[in-house]
Amino acid sequence: MASVTPAKTNVESKSETETVKKEDYEVEDKNFEREKVKTDPNFKRKIVWKNVIGFIFLHSAALYGLFLAITAAKLLTNIWAFFVLILSGQGVLMGAHRYYSHRGFKASWQLRLLLVACQTIAGQNCLYIWVRDHRQHHKYSDTDADPHNANRGFFFSHMGWLMSRKHPKVIEKGKGIDMSDLEADPFVMIQKKYYKTLYTILAIYIPTLVPYYFWGENIYTSLFVCYFFRYVLMLHGTWLVNSVAHLYGNRPYDKDLKPVENLTVAKITMGEGWHNYHHAFPWDYRAAELGYRDASLTTQLIDFMERIGWAKDLRTASCDMVRKRTLRKGDGSHTVITESTAANKNGEILTTNNKRKSSLITDKNHQNEKLQNGHPAEDAEQKKKSEELTNGVPRIRKLESPVIRNKVFNRG
Ligand SMILES: [Zn+2]
Ligand SMILES: [Zn+2]
Repeated sequence: MASVTPAKTNVESKSETETVKKEDYEVEDKNFEREKVKTDPNFKRKIVWKNVIGFIFLHSAALYGLFLAITAAKLLTNIWAFFVLILSGQGVLMGAHRYYSHRGFKASWQLRLLLVACQTIAGQNCLYIWVRDHRQHHKYSDTDADPHNANRGFFFSHMGWLMSRKHPKVIEKGKGIDMSDLEADPFVMIQKKYYKTLYTILAIYIPTLVPYYFWGENIYTSLFVCYFFRYVLMLHGTWLVNSVAHLYGNRPYDKDLKPVENLTVAKITMGEGWHNYHHAFPWDYRAAELGYRDASLTTQLIDFMERIGWAKDLRTASCDMVRKRTLRKGDGSHTVITESTAANKNGEILTTNNKRKSSLITDKNHQNEKLQNGHPAEDAEQKKKSEELTNGVPRIRKLESPVIRNKVFNRG
């Protein structure tokens, strides 16, 4: 459920919780009313040694799994492990993240069942807890109430938070996260109730036993490659979004948000690296402004689900919403929007072509129509108009080169 929040004046508050001003163009979910709690730099976190030992064991087993994958495993076993990795990845990315946490689209019962099963394979706790932590992460992003507060550094936001006692603010604010929609979903609640059993069957037994029974793989090789190595690889992929995509990159959409745009993370995580955009518009099912060209397999798979009738009502931020937010709050690195707007302010009339440039980078349907072989197509008339443009306004053709494309957003 989205609602347009009317413009309000800033709320002056002396309490540590500060309500952030919301503009009329900011459409927010009730779960994502941005609140700020500070980060206490003097807070001493307590290490949970049991978890530290567990992670040391898990990583040692994963490294041995990597060794076996290179030296002993059959090719089919490695292909199978990769397949399970992608499947569990989609359980987290499409399932836990874009669907259950942010409701970026509506899903049929078949898709929900598939996503809950795939998320179980990922072994990142049950959906209910995953989603609660993630909604809390958005609501209190990079503060003491954020479970993986990136202001505590790379290691803490990557995996250190799982080896530390929760900050009292995380426990306190976690109780206020609205989970009623998940509580109404029988698949989620059944998974929560029988999580350990389901996890043992779906994440350990099946991935390990398939290579053993079907192509005679050694059972230990299968266990270390298809469970330990595959599991830890997926964990680090997910953690990169919490660490690297909150620390290293630019903020074209909202410089007041700590999350950044990071191409490398986007490639590794099948499209979750455009994190400044994602935190600015969390309910956009694409988790990126540019969809297909931004290394987003997850977005393509959601589009596929829509085509077969398993997903519908895909939500995207409108061109105007993105443009206004970028101009008002971006760090200036979104040169396509900032330069074309500056040119318009200098007296140039907003031509159809200029409008198209704006929609090119924001409107999914328009983009799908115009993309040919991954590049925007121009018909003869628009091409002619484009060539008539001067005054340094960026042309659509410039976006065709990935190098220039990266420069546009400083995504080295
Ligand atoms: Zn984040
Ligand atoms: Zn999110």
